Amino acid sequence: MLKKIHKAVRSLLPTNSAMTAEDEPLVLERAEHCISRKQISKNALTVLYDLNKAGYEAYLVGGCIRDLLLSGKPKDFDVATNATPEQVNALFRRARIVGRRFKIVHVRFGREVIEVTTFRAAHQEPQAGTDPRGEQNSQGMLLRDNVYGSLREDALRRDFTINALYYSVDGFRVFDYTAGLADLDKQLLRMIGDPAQRYREDPVRMLRVIRFAAKLGFTIEKATAAPIADMSHHLEQVAPARLFDEISKLFLGGQAYKIFQLMLKYDIFAPLFPGTARCINKNNTLGKQLIEAALTNTDQRIEANKPVTPAFLYASLLWPVFVEHRKQLESNGMHAAPARQTASQEAIEQQIAVISIPRRFSIAVREIWNLQYNLEMSKGKRAVTLLSHPRFRAAYDFLLMREQAGEKLPRGSQFWTDLQIEHPDQVRTTPVSNHSGRPRRRRSSGARRQPATD
Ligand code: ATP
Ligand code: MG
Repeated sequence: MLKKIHKAVRSLLPTNSAMTAEDEPLVLERAEHCISRKQISKNALTVLYDLNKAGYEAYLVGGCIRDLLLSGKPKDFDVATNATPEQVNALFRRARIVGRRFKIVHVRFGREVIEVTTFRAAHQEPQAGTDPRGEQNSQGMLLRDNVYGSLREDALRRDFTINALYYSVDGFRVFDYTAGLADLDKQLLRMIGDPAQRYREDPVRMLRVIRFAAKLGFTIEKATAAPIADMSHHLEQVAPARLFDEISKLFLGGQAYKIFQLMLKYDIFAPLFPGTARCINKNNTLGKQLIEAALTNTDQRIEANKPVTPAFLYASLLWPVFVEHRKQLESNGMHAAPARQTASQEAIEQQIAVISIPRRFSIAVREIWNLQYNLEMSKGKRAVTLLSHPRFRAAYDFLLMREQAGEKLPRGSQFWTDLQIEHPDQVRTTPVSNHSGRPRRRRSSGARRQPATD
């Protein structure tokens, strides 16, 4: 529910949200909203004031305004301006242009980075390759998006109406070109423009709508939801490295369980995890329960501020595929040890064709799987030695999860729980890597709206 807007203003909000590009924006004056400068990062304010001082327009935009109006705490502050990336770059000492296909400027203040984007405009491309600033592939996916425009045009190029609200320090007003305030009030996620076309331009918007639905608890408006299931295969065109980042944002943001259910509902899971989807569709309840247990556990760890790693996530998501491959190989006569090796390699190789899992994580996934066998079989001295294995903790947690999901194991996790109590000095306490793999607060590649192959 929209909190930070004065009641009287609510009557100004359009009741039907079909605002068109020709409409004047709805403008909230300083007294009509409660966004205060105190809630805004000092560095973001500096960027806004400096751009204004140099004669440019500058606004805070996107998630920060959405979250401030909802009384949430913004994750980061993004700025939109009519200055070109080169002009922004020239204005700030610690600025850097990032991204080629979607150029943005990172202005650095110690650990904080303010991302500054130049107003974008829609672009038609009559002939492929004729305009170096804007380019689409044959399926309508944007390969390059550097056509600059006005504030209004910029608003219409954004994804959802609630993400297209602007705030200016020159007058402290909020600008709404897309009826985003009305949708914020109705708790609706509505795509700007024709949803199918917008998903075609950038299929990642299908993941974003689900992420915001889970994070904000909003409903996906009917026309915005309608094309998703039929278009989800477009996700296969997205660069695997960008998908790794997006999947991390989806599953390591504290709402993984809810997001998994939405992904199944909208047929988004199968194009991203084809092997796993095939396995769980074959009535593999254990596999699905293991994934659900792992995602719930991840959400709880994030809530408790404990570290999480994509390795554990992918170990769970791909476990049903690994088990199926292994059984298949064994039934074809392969011995258990080589069957495990081959199966784990195949499960990972098939997955990285869609989502590129960095090697440090895929190695850890295979170790967690390999150790399952050791945990099921080891006894005596060998078992005690295993306690000091760098990946013991992760493998033990994984074993707990398998049990929790209902798997009957030859030797349960209790044995290992007791053994750790008996030999506390053997248990390695430092994590193998302190890289949590949690989505970075800021992208380093500038791959924001850039949907293509970088
Ligand atoms: P979060 O709270 O996750 O940061 P956000 O809405 O700020 O949410 P960002 O990825 O930081 O998300 O993007 C900032 C803004 O840029 C968005 O609010 C939206 O206006 C625009 N944007 C980002 N990605 C896209 C996209 N794929 N298509 C169109 N607009 C986008
Ligand atoms: Mg943001």
